[in-house]
This record gives sequence, structure tokens and C-alpha cells, in this order.
Amino acid sequence: MAESSIVVSVEKVVKHLKDHKVKAAVKVKSEVLRIAENFLKDEGYVELLPTILSTVTDPLNHDVYEVTVDYNGLPYRLTQSMIFHKQLALLAFDKIFITSPNIRLETFDKSTSGRHLFEFVQIDLEAREATREDIMNLIERLFVEIFKGVRESCKEELEFLDVDPEIPKPPFKKVKYLDAVKEYGEKFEDKLSMDLDQPAWLIDIPILKREFYDKLSPNGETLLDMDLILPRGYGEVISGGEREYEYDSILRRMAIKGNDPENFEWYLKIVKEYGIPPSAGCGFGVERLTRYICGLDHVKYTRLFPKVPGELWV
Ligand code: AMP
Ligand code: MG
Repeated sequence: MAESSIVVSVEKVVKHLKDHKVKAAVKVKSEVLRIAENFLKDEGYVELLPTILSTVTDPLNHDVYEVTVDYNGLPYRLTQSMIFHKQLALLAFDKIFITSPNIRLETFDKSTSGRHLFEFVQIDLEAREATREDIMNLIERLFVEIFKGVRESCKEELEFLDVDPEIPKPPFKKVKYLDAVKEYGEKFEDKLSMDLDQPAWLIDIPILKREFYDKLSPNGETLLDMDLILPRGYGEVISGGEREYEYDSILRRMAIKGNDPENFEWYLKIVKEYGIPPSAGCGFGVERLTRYICGLDHVKYTRLFPKVPGELWV
């Protein structure tokens, strides 16, 4: 067996597995998943299984370490999000969702953010012909169901964690990105979140602050997209929006963001030759929502086998 100077701390792993706080949070997360999946199916969303390997994945809007799997010369990537597969899946179904494991090799400085893992799960959904408003409305109803359901089925766990999560009250406030900058400055997320006592939508994000696939609004400067910001410093839990679906617009947006079309070859080919439908959708971080419900200081407590940036785990 090869000697390695970096070894997994077995004590750390077992301590985590036996931690009652972790056990309670993982049970709550299991209920979040059950309720969300049932809700979306009742709303007519068809569940797809996750795509883990692909030649094309989300370019993201922040730096992560690149990961390519060399499959005997075939250049696969690990999925950072299923955004392009979601758009293509709408050629088959009108509404889809995936409980999607994402690998994002976040930089080590994210280890103490409390919000980052380098393997996490988002419930990722997309609906044909939907608007941003449709998705915000769907999520508001879904969050009410999740909080109601968890309060009912996880009484013991919530009591152990000593939390009493309040059922959110739709409609959530909408805050324009540029108004948030005016009020709190460029790095506003934490301050805005600290000031909230209900989740709030951050909307109209400037074109350069997001990936090329969120739809440009007619003003040519901001996007028809949104984040959901949780109260009390918990921060962003959802990103989503309406999507670009026309070939020329996608190419224009790639040029503005400096994304090389060659890296998106088959996606662009399908868009050009077959077309994809207009759509809107979003993804919410299951660990982040669970962390908020459970009042935890780090998302790592929501997983039995967390991948904390910069640390070695099993
Ligand atoms: P994004 O579209 O990149 O904003 O990702 C969608 C959602 O996934 C975010 O709003 C978070 O809730 C969650 N998320 C993104 N990155 C991470 C991460 N590194 N660790 C945990 N959750 C994450
Ligand atoms: Mg985001």
C-alpha cells in the first residue's frame, strides 16, 4: 500500500458520525428531500436522475479548481451544475427536477464560510415557458410546505437542536441588486441577510455578475434572474432565473463573459440546429436550507460524510 503523508483522521470521522447534532440534522435533511420531491411531483415535475460526468458543465461565476476525468483519452468533467442538461431535458418534458450532486472544488479559503462544501446537493428544477415570477411563486409555496412538514415530522430533532424554525410568510420581499449595493456596499450579502427576518429575493443581477445563460432583461444591463437570501446571516440558498435560449443571444453573452464557445460545442450545436425552448428554473442547496432550519453554524453538520474545502474526509 502506498505511504501517504496526508491521512484521513479516523477519530474525526467517527466523532462526526456519533455526533447527535449531526444525526438530528441529517434526519431533518432527509425530510426536506422527501417533502420537496413529493411537492414537485405533485406540481407535475418529472424527476430525472443526476448526470455526474459530462463533457460540458456550468462555467460558474467564481473560481474553483478545474477537474477533468481522463477516460482513456475522452475528456469528461464532473458536474458543477446540470444547467445545460436541464435546458435540453425540456425537449422531452415540460417540467423537470433533479436531486443533483455537484462537485465544485472550492478554494480552501471557503472552509470557514459555514456555507461551502466541495460536494453538495442541489434540488435543481426547470420549467418550459416559465417566467421568473412562476419560479419564485413555486419556491415560496415549496418552502412553506418544507417548514410545515419538518416541524411536524422532526419534532424530536428540532427540540434536541433547540430550534423553532418559523414557517416563512410569502410573498417574499424583492430587493434589486443595485439597490442592495447602494444600501450596503459591493459586498452586501451578509449585511442584507443579517437585516432580514424573512427570506427575500435578490433580483435583477447585473450582467457581469452572472453566468452567460441567465436571460438579459430588455434594459440590456441586468438579468431576469434571482437569488433567495435567508435571514440572520445564513445568506444565499437559491440561484435561478429565466434562461437565454436563442443561439445568437447565447453567443453574444458568451463573448461578454469571455467563455470560449469551443468548450460548449455540442450544447451550441443542439441550440443552433434543433433549438431549445424558453424556460426558467433554479436550484436550492439542500445542505444550506437544512443548516438554516437547524440553526447550525456550518453545513458540514448536515452530512454524515461532508467534504469541507481544504480538508481530507472519507
Ligand atoms: P449556484 O447556482 O451556483 O448559486 O448554486 C445553487 C445553490 O447551490 C446555491 O444557491 C447554494 O444553495 C448551493 N451551493 C452552491 N455552491 C455550494 C457549495 N460549495 N456548498 C454548498 N452549497 C452550495
Ligand atoms: Mg448562486
